[in-house]
Amino acid sequence: MGKYIFITGGVVSSLGKGISGASVGKLLQLHGFKVTMIKFDPYINVDPGTMNPYQHGEVFVTVDGTESDLDLGTYERFLDIYTSKANTNTAGDIYQTVINKERRGDYTGDTVQVIPHITDEIKKRFRALKNDFDISIIEIGGTIGDIEGLPFIEAARQFQLENRKEDIFSIHVTLVPYITGANELKTKPTQHSVNKLRETGISPNMIICRTDHKLNGSLKKKISLFCNVDENCVIEALDSPYIYFIPEALHKQNVDSLIMDKLNMKSIKRFDKKWFIRVRLLSEFTKKVNIAVVGKYVTLKDAYKSIDESLNIAAAELNAKADIHYLDSEDNNLIEKLKNCNAILVPGGFGNRGIEGKINSITYARENKIPFLGICLGMQCGVIEVSRNLAKLEDANSTEFDKDTKYPVIRILDEQKKIKYRGGTMRLGNYKSKIKKNTVAYNLYKNVEIEERHRHRYEMNPEFVDVLERVGLLVSAYHKGVLPEIIEIKNHPFFIGVQFHPEFASRPMKAHPLFKGFIRAALKEDL
Ligand code: GLN
Repeated sequence: MGKYIFITGGVVSSLGKGISGASVGKLLQLHGFKVTMIKFDPYINVDPGTMNPYQHGEVFVTVDGTESDLDLGTYERFLDIYTSKANTNTAGDIYQTVINKERRGDYTGDTVQVIPHITDEIKKRFRALKNDFDISIIEIGGTIGDIEGLPFIEAARQFQLENRKEDIFSIHVTLVPYITGANELKTKPTQHSVNKLRETGISPNMIICRTDHKLNGSLKKKISLFCNVDENCVIEALDSPYIYFIPEALHKQNVDSLIMDKLNMKSIKRFDKKWFIRVRLLSEFTKKVNIAVVGKYVTLKDAYKSIDESLNIAAAELNAKADIHYLDSEDNNLIEKLKNCNAILVPGGFGNRGIEGKINSITYARENKIPFLGICLGMQCGVIEVSRNLAKLEDANSTEFDKDTKYPVIRILDEQKKIKYRGGTMRLGNYKSKIKKNTVAYNLYKNVEIEERHRHRYEMNPEFVDVLERVGLLVSAYHKGVLPEIIEIKNHPFFIGVQFHPEFASRPMKAHPLFKGFIRAALKEDL
């Protein structure tokens, strides 16, 4: 079909363009269309893999091993799709492709320029998924007026010219702020932002106005008049208590039918309200559960975005509200703070800082029979904890933190070094593992074969499996029979470590079995 919806943002950053776009996508999906979303980030980093989670939030990993911006996680959760390399683009990556072509001589001596070479590469990527999906929603990162965003906006303008009018829809997301002194909502920033967009040659078909107060009819009229947009296409996006309510809020303003009319599309099936019903259920609870996440990037919640989502969804499925406490693993009062929590999660991470605090939290969880879930680095810390304190392998460590440790219970394996993984020595993306029967892991997954996403260099050292199994640890899943993927310990309500990242696979329509089991244990319910 090849329909495109462009999402741009104005006035300020962090307006939730990704969520607005994904909500629009969800509605179109509920009409039966196949929808995907593609992100364009104007920064120069080639991918977000090396970006600091403090600044940029979590690195989301796709099934094919692409390290991406966390917006892809929003797309996957809203649309229940799997994204891949084709769904994420940065200016750095686009320039690198063009420069590589230039070096190879592909441009046969032409002067290589932003227009047409960079814009051609961008347009090619707008079309990347058009054969697999009816609608591609293209989110252009940054704010209108940013210098670095210009090539993307220019590419969108050309694309509009080169395609049929009924194939393209443009949505601009802005902020309509409330000024307390004047007791008024102000439309001027939106007017300026749309003017700026129109200067580039793009006239939006719809404006989604983020606001914390209701937009009345006269304000909508004003925005419509000044911004040259139909009045019914001025959409109010009130702050929502739950992001998954947003599709319904947009549906009530006919966003889906307005878009379908312009794109000349008719519903493929009867509008399916299951999503609305499900997310309403997810927002109602009778129980509460306190979960500690002991990590290093605790000041920015987005650094653990998918974990946050996974815990919330799993708890909600069990009729409980998850109160998530992000605790700094270097906090001197850490153990004291853990005492108020029903369960402890140690997430993934890189580098030495805060490791001992994580290990101490795991000792606390193990000895006091508090449910523990260790993810990637968290699993590795679990192995170190059991090695040091149960197997008495003094100062056992990962070679990531102590190169010369006498007991390298976590290390980069020689056979792994030989394998050419995507991203150099990093194991990235989906890998299969086999779960042993009669284990907690099997009880949760109810499956022998699983496939989960990875992002790590180090592995549990198979040479130590026997010693550790003698003191009560159990490796309950392996990749290809050699690489430990899941560990658990016996005689504990829930003590699980996984070498992979289950958090990337949670969906609002279905909690991940590991998170669900973890929350069940936290609620002291049977697994
Ligand atoms: N730093 C560890 C490794 O590289 C764990 C990585 C992670 O938690 N994602 O193996």
